[in-house]
Amino acid sequence: MRINSVAIIGSGIAGMRAAQLLVEQGHKVTVFEKSSGTGGRLASSKLGEGSIDLGAPIIDANDVEFESWLREQGVEQWFPSNATLQLEKRKPISGWVMAPRSSALTRQLAGGVELRTNVRVAVVWPDREGVLLRDAAGEALGHFDAVVIAAPAPQAATLLDAIQRFRHRAEKTAVSAIWTMALSLPERPAVLADVDWLEGEDEVIARVVRDSSKPQRSGENWIIQATEAWSQQVLDLEPDDVGREMLDAVSRAIGETLIPENVRVHRWRYARATPEQGHENALWDEQSGIGACGDWLCGGNVEGAWRSANELVARILGSRLKVA
Ligand SMILES: Cc1cc2nc3c(=O)[nH]c(=O)nc-3n(C[C@H](O)[C@H](O)[C@H](O)COP(=O)(O)OP(=O)(O)OC[C@H]3O[C@@H](n4cnc5c(N)ncnc54)[C@H](O)[C@@H]3O)c2cc1C
Repeated sequence: MRINSVAIIGSGIAGMRAAQLLVEQGHKVTVFEKSSGTGGRLASSKLGEGSIDLGAPIIDANDVEFESWLREQGVEQWFPSNATLQLEKRKPISGWVMAPRSSALTRQLAGGVELRTNVRVAVVWPDREGVLLRDAAGEALGHFDAVVIAAPAPQAATLLDAIQRFRHRAEKTAVSAIWTMALSLPERPAVLADVDWLEGEDEVIARVVRDSSKPQRSGENWIIQATEAWSQQVLDLEPDDVGREMLDAVSRAIGETLIPENVRVHRWRYARATPEQGHENALWDEQSGIGACGDWLCGGNVEGAWRSANELVARILGSRLKVA
C-alpha cells in the first residue's frame, strides 16, 4: 500500500495530533470537521464579549512524554486554588491549559493541513481508487489513500460500517453525557474571592471552575459542570430549564445567589467515554486503509486521545514502510 493522501474525520485532540504527525512525515492531510471550528471537546465558545472553554477545563498529564509535548506546544501549567462545593479549602490541584483559549491548541496543529469545517462526513467506504468519503447529502468528498476516524465512539460507529469488527468495538463503548453551563458575572462573588475550582459530593453539580483564572483570560467567566448521573436524568430537557436548576444548585451549595450577565448552556451528548480494558489503543485495517483513534480507545481523556493518535499514526507509517 502506498499512502500519500490521508483524510481525518474530527478536529479534536486525537484528529489534530494525528494530522500533526502525518504532516511532519510529508503526507497530504485533509481534516473534515462538522463544527465551525477545531477542538471538539477541547473547544472554546463565545460568551458575551469574550470566549470560554466549554469542554475539558484542564488537561492532566500523567506521562512525561505527553507533558513535554504540551510544553512544546506552549500549553501552560495551572494551579487553581481548590475547595469543596461547601467552600472547605483543599490542596491546590495542577494541570495544563492553553492560552488564550483551549481551542488554540488544536488550531495551531492545523499548520500544513487542509481544514474543511462545517462538513459532516456520513460515509467512509473503500473501493478500487482508495477510500471514498461522502457527506450527509451523498456528495462525494474525494478518494484518499487512508482515512483516520477521530470522532467519539457513537459517531465513529456509523463511519466504521466497512469494518464491522471496528464498528462493534465502537458500539460497545460506554459514553456518558454532561450538561455544562458557561456564565459571566458582573463581579467576583465574595464567597468565591480566593477559589478557582470547586468540586465535591453533590447530586447535580460536579465542578465549578473560574475560567478567568487561567492564563491570558479576562472578565469574570465561570463554568459549571453537572454530574454524569444527573445529566443523564435530564438529558432531553430544554437547556434553559437545565441551566436554571444548575444555577440554583450552585447558589444553594455556596450560600450566595449568582446572577449572571451572559449564560450559555450546552449539552455534551458524548462527553466521557469508558474505554474497554485490555484492547488496542487504536484501530487500523491495513487492507482497506481505514483506522480510528480517540479517547474512547484509550484513557477516556485528553492524554489518552493523544496517545491513541500516536499509536494509530505509528501503525499507518509502519504499513507504508513495509509495503510502499
Ligand atoms: C464537560 C467535559 C469535561 C471534561 N473534563 C476533562 C478533564 O478534566 N480532563 C481530561 O483530560 N478530559 C476531560 N474531558 C474529556 C476530553 O475532553 C476528551 O477525552 C478529549 O477531548 C477527546 O478528544 P477526541 O479528539 O478523542 O474527541 P473530540 O474532542 O470529541 O473530537 C471529535 C471531533 O469529531 C467531530 N466529528 C464527529 N463526527 C463527525 C463527522 N461525522 N464528520 C466530521 N466531524 C465529526 C466532532 O465535531 C469533534 O470536533 C472532558 C470532556 C467534557 C465534555
